[in-house]
Amino acid sequence: MLGRANRGERQPNAWGRTPHAIARREKESEAYLRKRLRWSRKTPLLSCGIGCALAMLFVAVPGASAQPRQSGARTAAPRRTDCGQGVKIQLSSPLASQGSLLLVELRSVNPLADVKGEWNEREVPFWQEKGPAAARVSMARALLGVDLEKPAGKYEFKLAGEAQNGQKVSCVMTVTVKAGRFATENLKVEPQFVEPNPEQLARADEERKKLRAIFDTVTPERLWKGRFRVPLDGVTMGGNFGRRRILNGQPGSPHGGVDFPAVTGTPVHAAQSGRVALAEELYFSGNTVVVDHGLGIYTFYGHLSEISVKVGDAVEAGAVLGKVGATGRVTGPHLHWGLTVERARVNALDIVKLLGSN
Ligand SMILES: [Zn+2]
Repeated sequence: MLGRANRGERQPNAWGRTPHAIARREKESEAYLRKRLRWSRKTPLLSCGIGCALAMLFVAVPGASAQPRQSGARTAAPRRTDCGQGVKIQLSSPLASQGSLLLVELRSVNPLADVKGEWNEREVPFWQEKGPAAARVSMARALLGVDLEKPAGKYEFKLAGEAQNGQKVSCVMTVTVKAGRFATENLKVEPQFVEPNPEQLARADEERKKLRAIFDTVTPERLWKGRFRVPLDGVTMGGNFGRRRILNGQPGSPHGGVDFPAVTGTPVHAAQSGRVALAEELYFSGNTVVVDHGLGIYTFYGHLSEISVKVGDAVEAGAVLGKVGATGRVTGPHLHWGLTVERARVNALDIVKLLGSN
């Protein structure tokens, strides 16, 4: 069905990839990778099939066009800025790469009457956090998503607010977005695996619109509490985020989620609490669950063998949403885990890193 120039390596999966090849690319040792991914010699690493590459059309952001390339440093020390009136703001890093997440922390000596952030031409919702007791400051946080295809360049995060005495507060911080470090794969496949038929395309298009409408909706309340987790027990890392496939010479959309190879039937847990926004079978991602965590944050779970929740359900952190499977356009069982923040497709593992301890 398909071929790839990747000969001479042991036990290639359907895509011609081997633990050795991937470990080398990910700069991990093969033994370490196998252990971390609980990867048996019989379990193919992969992952999303052709459809999965096409599936990224689901959440593609109009107008985004950058080609991910090798990049330099991804993070730098947090940057602090004084906005006046006893208000200070800290950005987790002034450097970001495509598909990453930034954390904004606002500290104010006096409670603010009003505060608004703007990023990516959208209003950024803040949530209140308990500040350090000794510091006697009020603290609020927000997440800034850098879409997987946001063109590299300099962007501004703007903050405007009003202190309770009526004095204005404002800040502008510049964020430099670098191209992401994403793998590219060249594949030759039979045309029927690349192009869905018109009926399938129409269905996929409807589903894409439905997902966009969901991701475009910002639930004003914060629905999560506590740390975000990886949806599979005992797993801390996954692969394929941002990977770009060139199918028969045609570049496909980048892979917008993180893939975790796992045995069919493995329970899939909600990364945090929220409300189920979608629970149905989709053309590309098979049995799919989307959880709304509030404030424009959504997690996506694809290719499930079965779904255990329904739309509207309130789920607790860690609740079982379904089981790992190989439904949709895939070549083997795995979980496709996605994260969308204010419509930006970002690496879901970033939210575990940034909001892993509060
Ligand atoms: Zn995937």
